[in-house]
Amino acid sequence: MSEKSKTELLKEQLFSTNKNGRLVCSDETLLAADNYCDGYKKFLDLAKTEREAVKTAVDMAEKAGFVPFEFGKKYKAGDKIYMNNRGKTIALAVIGKEPVENGVNISAAHIDSPRLDLKPNPLYEEIELAMFKTHYYGGIKKYQWTAIPLALHGVFALKDGSVKEVCIGEEDNEPKFVINDLLPHLAQEQSKRTLNEGIKGEELNVLIGSHPFRDDKASELVKLNILKLLNEKYGITEADFLSAELELVPAVKACDIGFDRSMIGAYGQDDRVCAYPALTAILDIEKPEKTAVVVLADKEEVGSQGNTGLESDFLRFIIRDLAIMQDGDGTIALRNSKCLSADVNAGMDPTFQDVMERRNASFLNYGVVVTKYTGARGKSSTSDASAEYVASIRNMLDNADIVWQTGELGKVDLGGGGTVAMFIANLGVDVVDLGVPVLSMHAPFETTAKLDVYMCYKAMYEFMK
Ligand code: MN
Ligand code: MN
Repeated sequence: MSEKSKTELLKEQLFSTNKNGRLVCSDETLLAADNYCDGYKKFLDLAKTEREAVKTAVDMAEKAGFVPFEFGKKYKAGDKIYMNNRGKTIALAVIGKEPVENGVNISAAHIDSPRLDLKPNPLYEEIELAMFKTHYYGGIKKYQWTAIPLALHGVFALKDGSVKEVCIGEEDNEPKFVINDLLPHLAQEQSKRTLNEGIKGEELNVLIGSHPFRDDKASELVKLNILKLLNEKYGITEADFLSAELELVPAVKACDIGFDRSMIGAYGQDDRVCAYPALTAILDIEKPEKTAVVVLADKEEVGSQGNTGLESDFLRFIIRDLAIMQDGDGTIALRNSKCLSADVNAGMDPTFQDVMERRNASFLNYGVVVTKYTGARGKSSTSDASAEYVASIRNMLDNADIVWQTGELGKVDLGGGGTVAMFIANLGVDVVDLGVPVLSMHAPFETTAKLDVYMCYKAMYEFMK
């Protein structure tokens, strides 16, 4: 091999380099990533809604020795606790050797994803077909949700206080539901609409039945038959839809993508692709220096409002409660705390490169992506992590041989978006976004790279250990 020239050496020393992680990682690391993602795919299939994600997280946490937090109880280093907020948001903590007042290390991800919610009065019959009205949740391209199989997940909360869980359409032998689209032959007028209006919000109506209750005297016999079936199965009547949370999600299972199986396709990877790494990382932590906290939050896709979203005081009170049990001060604890706001970024897509600025975009297989700021139009609505904090995260990632990259959410002035980072920053916590690049974000079927998912886990573990 010829010796490197002076210029080459100087370039090596001074230029920042970024390489495809699949070229630089060992075979063992690539295999570990594959194995890790087998668990991730199972999680994706079990946890398609925030409620199911909390349930799955509780199951996994209890198996790893976590117990429900009890206010007033004293906990010692290595103790593992969780707080379940209304079955939709969960926080998990492993108590550290240092006092909570010295600060905690928080990894926060969200477990809600774009979907179609049923309206309070969803059920109707039109031309002898039974239908559901929906109100979409989060930012979707509405036309993507037609003509694909859908599953119904959620709960009916009844007046007697009981809750009936619903999950139909996930098993091969279960029926699915569908939103029909217009045939191209008759879509001349529809084709003139903008893409955004191609399917309108009020056209996201779900086909749920066609068999009439067999009596030719009454009307709405198909609707009646559907209610009869639902009554037999769940004991509900039409009025019970008023106190239900029923969500339609794609009836598709997570799978490998590509001849080389290097990627994963699934619904709801934004943000379970960060929630699963955060969860599995804290389950693997034994006795950290500082208390480790993972928050898996609801309502991010609609702005984090509500008592299960991170704009609420949920996280503030958790840190306060943890500090109080050691006779410490919650405000001081927050001021000393650090956070990885774990959310996806838009990966560069070969077909849509022009929305990205190449030098500041994230790429599949280039590892976990650190996003200093999100926001839109002049960095509005972002927390913009401090240079000092980003430096400490760079140091942590490099020391642990974690493949990572940086990324912005597309070109300046083209769009943008936010994460929970700004709400956590409001608590006085140092926070930066770190997550996984994803293709087709918010579509019914999103794509990520296995190596990036695994690197996200490694980053979370390193941060909290
Ligand atoms: Mn997200
Ligand atoms: Mn999102």
